[in-house]
Amino acid sequence: MDIRAPRGVRDILPDESWKWAYVLDVTAKTMADFGYAEVHLPVFEQTELFSRGVGDTTDIVEKEMYTFLDRGGRSVTLRPEATAGMVRAALEHGLCVHGASAKLWCQGPMFRYERPQKGRYRQFCQLDAECLGLPGPVADVEIIALSAEIFRRLGLKNLEVVLNSVGCPNCRPGYRQALVDYFTSKKEGLCETCIGRLDRNPLRVLDCKLPDCGAIADAAPAVYEHLCGECTSHFEEVKAGLTRLGFVYKLDKRLVRGLDYYTRTAYEILSGDLGAQNAVCGGGRYDNLSESIGGPHLPGVGFAGGIDRIVMVMEQQGASFGERPQPAVCVVAQSEAARGASQVLTHRLRREGFAVEQDAGDSSRWARSFRAQMKSAGGSGAAWVCIIGDEELASGSVAVKNMNTGDQVVVPDAEVTRTIQTATSEV
Ligand SMILES: [Zn+2]
Ligand SMILES: [Zn+2]
Repeated sequence: MDIRAPRGVRDILPDESWKWAYVLDVTAKTMADFGYAEVHLPVFEQTELFSRGVGDTTDIVEKEMYTFLDRGGRSVTLRPEATAGMVRAALEHGLCVHGASAKLWCQGPMFRYERPQKGRYRQFCQLDAECLGLPGPVADVEIIALSAEIFRRLGLKNLEVVLNSVGCPNCRPGYRQALVDYFTSKKEGLCETCIGRLDRNPLRVLDCKLPDCGAIADAAPAVYEHLCGECTSHFEEVKAGLTRLGFVYKLDKRLVRGLDYYTRTAYEILSGDLGAQNAVCGGGRYDNLSESIGGPHLPGVGFAGGIDRIVMVMEQQGASFGERPQPAVCVVAQSEAARGASQVLTHRLRREGFAVEQDAGDSSRWARSFRAQMKSAGGSGAAWVCIIGDEELASGSVAVKNMNTGDQVVVPDAEVTRTIQTATSEV
């Protein structure tokens, strides 16, 4: 076949998908425990939502969006992130009118046209939580605690919160100028991209991943001396709140995140051994996003984490994904004649809530030796195998084999469930 998945996307096959299901289960439970309600958002939006909401000078909007005209000539974009869509939905449906707040989460695919590399795909799945309508630092601390709790429950090791503030429209211009002055004096050491960013978005020079730029950025002025009084006290209260809850955090003045909409708190959570740490989520506050897309003032704080990345880090750390789902029972028909009875038994056991596999594919399989069929039943992981042969068929019975003990009993068809349940409860 010539048709393959497009470059940069991948299929999540059964060997991995059960791990995703586990991560999503733990996430959904944790979100509910923190009072966050799930929403399902469209995967495409009007392009303007992102160009105005995420920001024209971000990498995402400049070069990574999947934007196209639909058949009606409207410009639409596959969502590159979830926050702008969440804020749009909250505004559109009046979830935060008259001072109400909303705690929402969602999960699903996001799309960015990036260079594909290990752990980075053009379609990737994100978990995303947003707390809308609460301007105070308590909401920031809760969002950080929520994300950390998900990763703690997933068994990730050495969780560390990396924290920064990116100020607000009152104090950022002063900091921005200090950065422009500093980076201009070091201009000859910066990469082309950073020189281009100097005028338009100097904060982004701070998070350049190139070593030369990084060395210059390490010595750049820190935001802390430039924060206004309100931003300073907000930042202090976030730090105090984290300490109160027992979180270890470290400050990183270069953490500015790639998005224009952040105000005040920016953070990431790292996991893993020192020197091999991975960021498993990132987030922060975005008090002006709503206004930038034409809405009223609506403060917000949230985070997003990539499931592909989270699963990868869990695998690296040997974290548990719980038990891979496997059949409890395998039904084996020993002859063509027993096929109907085995289908009926399979269906009945499934309706009673057992996970059941049936080895009764096509007639070519009847040629398989009984030994081979039992071998594949054993390989299915089922704790029980129900066998129907000509003898059982004639007497209306079923041979029930306990795969753990090797014991086998022949019982009337109607007794199969009880036989399995009794033996299971005795263990
Ligand atoms: Zn400020
Ligand atoms: Zn650079």
